[in-house]
Amino acid sequence: MLKRLIFLFSLVIYSNNVNAKSVILMIGDGMGYNHLSCAEMEQPLFLKTQSAASVMTFSADNETTDSAASATTYSCGIKTNNYWLGLTPDMKVCKTIAEEAVEKGKNVYIMTTDNDLGATPSAFYAHTTSRNDNETISRERDEFSKKADLKFDIISLSDSVEDLLQKLSEDDKEYFVMIEGAKIDKASHKNDLYEMKKQLIDFDAAVKKVWQFAQNHSVNVYITADHETGALRAPTCKYFSYDHTPLYVPLWIYGDEWDSEAVYDNTDVYKMMHKSLFQD
Ligand SMILES: [Zn+2]
Repeated sequence: MLKRLIFLFSLVIYSNNVNAKSVILMIGDGMGYNHLSCAEMEQPLFLKTQSAASVMTFSADNETTDSAASATTYSCGIKTNNYWLGLTPDMKVCKTIAEEAVEKGKNVYIMTTDNDLGATPSAFYAHTTSRNDNETISRERDEFSKKADLKFDIISLSDSVEDLLQKLSEDDKEYFVMIEGAKIDKASHKNDLYEMKKQLIDFDAAVKKVWQFAQNHSVNVYITADHETGALRAPTCKYFSYDHTPLYVPLWIYGDEWDSEAVYDNTDVYKMMHKSLFQD
């Protein structure tokens, strides 16, 4: 009996080690379904060739989230209030998936087209009740940059991602990567369809490279958005808002088990990534 228990126990440990995976999360800020449909009128998109599930993005205090609350959900697995970063609604600091990855000896890379105070990247290492609290964000960013590789103001994700993928394949350590296409949102706030398409096409090209990389590497890939921006309609490609909306956003997963016809909550995306990364 005891022998059998030891055998089963060692089997569990063994399978945990075997299944441990690295994770790449890609966030198209503001990217709704119709952003993809409208960009595809310009040129075929890789993402449109893959089936997508849906994600509900509401925050703790609002039907319509902002990037700070939504990115905190992806980083911590909890719903929080709009404008808050890395905090629970009762103001407790939440440990982000990036911080936990560093603690457990994995490499962490964050790459974004946003600047170094952007809400989405900040949600992975800063903890404050305001996304405009530049002092706290700067301090926590500088602290975190000693332990992780942070790249801001990327001009072209599809160009920059190649160097990153090269680095990931040369290094045999496990990793957590967050890549954000921030300007899909920024262009949509201005209802600038031309710029939105350009940004989305670049994001899509980066996704394609990551997806191909994942075919021969031990990594699970999650691609989604934090919220929709602009109430964009297709096929007319007219915006009906200058702000975020509560519309569902798409989700694509490579490597992990998922249901491409399901409606997930944004907390579920965290749970899946966390399980892949830490096998818990
Ligand atoms: Zn926005």
